[in-house]
Amino acid sequence: MIDRAIDALTDHYQSLGLLGQLDREYCRNRAFSLLQEEPVAYQPSSIDRRSALQLLLQAARDKGLLAGEGVAFEDDFIARLTDLFMPRPSEYTAIVANMPDAKAATDWMYRVAVDTDYVKSDRVKNNIHHRYQAEYAQVEITINVSKPEKSPEEIRLASTASAGYPACLLCRENVGLSDVPRPPRAHHRIYPISLNGEDYFFQYSPYSYFNEHCIIFSGEHRPMAITQAVVDRFLDFVDQFPHYFISANADLPIVGGSILTHDHYQGGRALFPIDASPETILSDEAELRVARLDWPISAVRLSGQRAAVAGAAKRLIEAWRDYSKPEFGILARTDRPHNTVNLLARRGEDYQLTLLFRNNRTDQAHPDGIFHTRPIWQVVKRENIGIIEAIGLAILPARLVTEMAHFEELEQYRDWLRVVPEAEPLERLGYTFSEILKDCGVFKQDEASQQAFEDFLRVAYEND
Ligand SMILES: [Zn+2]
Repeated sequence: MIDRAIDALTDHYQSLGLLGQLDREYCRNRAFSLLQEEPVAYQPSSIDRRSALQLLLQAARDKGLLAGEGVAFEDDFIARLTDLFMPRPSEYTAIVANMPDAKAATDWMYRVAVDTDYVKSDRVKNNIHHRYQAEYAQVEITINVSKPEKSPEEIRLASTASAGYPACLLCRENVGLSDVPRPPRAHHRIYPISLNGEDYFFQYSPYSYFNEHCIIFSGEHRPMAITQAVVDRFLDFVDQFPHYFISANADLPIVGGSILTHDHYQGGRALFPIDASPETILSDEAELRVARLDWPISAVRLSGQRAAVAGAAKRLIEAWRDYSKPEFGILARTDRPHNTVNLLARRGEDYQLTLLFRNNRTDQAHPDGIFHTRPIWQVVKRENIGIIEAIGLAILPARLVTEMAHFEELEQYRDWLRVVPEAEPLERLGYTFSEILKDCGVFKQDEASQQAFEDFLRVAYEND
């Protein structure tokens, strides 16, 4: 059966466009070699791809070919096996570059990522999703159960892993690396793009939080920095991929993403709760429309022509860096800067940029952050509220799947249960997330705060 499974994979990956007619024997023979199996002649096979992989994985296990016990070692083997059928990076790039348009290009890259198990779609579909109707909007939560638990051997290997090369998990130099505890990237491919004249790479996220979740990262290992250049990069991206959005985490701790050391963005083909947010129009000119969103994390939406949107966004980013309003607790800096911005760009007929204003200051009364999840909610989520959450989709930890079956019996939830409405567990989690977003808002929803926010936003359209 090993031979028929290899034949099935050869046919499947050829039909995906990963190898040509002349590559078949070469790829098959290398697969036989990896499995330490005597090669035989090709025969058509009716085994589906997933069953073929399972069969070959079992054969590898039986023959002692896996480097260790646990899911990571299995993923590593599958990655190495799949890589035998993959085009080399330059061949992959040429295939994508020759696609008729950007939509065809992402359709193919995404299908390849899913059909080679780079995107763990069979695990992602186990994630739990729920929509919660808050008073200001419908928000969404997802409990992320797709990332497998680490085995003891993986944890041991991770603790002895040497640092330095590649500098981080986002670096382009990860392509082709696969040894546990590294993620399985033997078969990983990235696509080079140019944003604002700078080298970036496009890849999909193995554990998608939303449809066609992609990561765009700089060719150079350099820190996240929300500067005016991000605006130009984003508008370049939506010019090249008008069917995708692109978004950025902030560049400061507490309000930033989990990786601040490598400049990168999140994108994909999905809408978020903030996209449906009601808005108050502040200015509506032919070239630029400015609207304050009725959203708990203070946000503005700029839409219109490219140059006008870019100019307004850059003025707002610069002005926010220096903005203080002590009566609302907003201080631009103490011994270090505190103000930063999340961005989200889209393109329809107009360019659209949404800016969310953030502040990461802490004080004695709020050691975790003044505009951060209050302690009462941290039993549900204590991590940073990054861009995807800020636009309305909560990524909640896997432990909640078991914990939510018996909140009432768990000591750590006692105070929390007193303040959340009596409801189904997922509704209670949705409520909690809707309150977390309010905690993160710098201008609260009272009239004085919203007036101050509008006064600040005038920078976008009155200071031209
Ligand atoms: Zn890096």
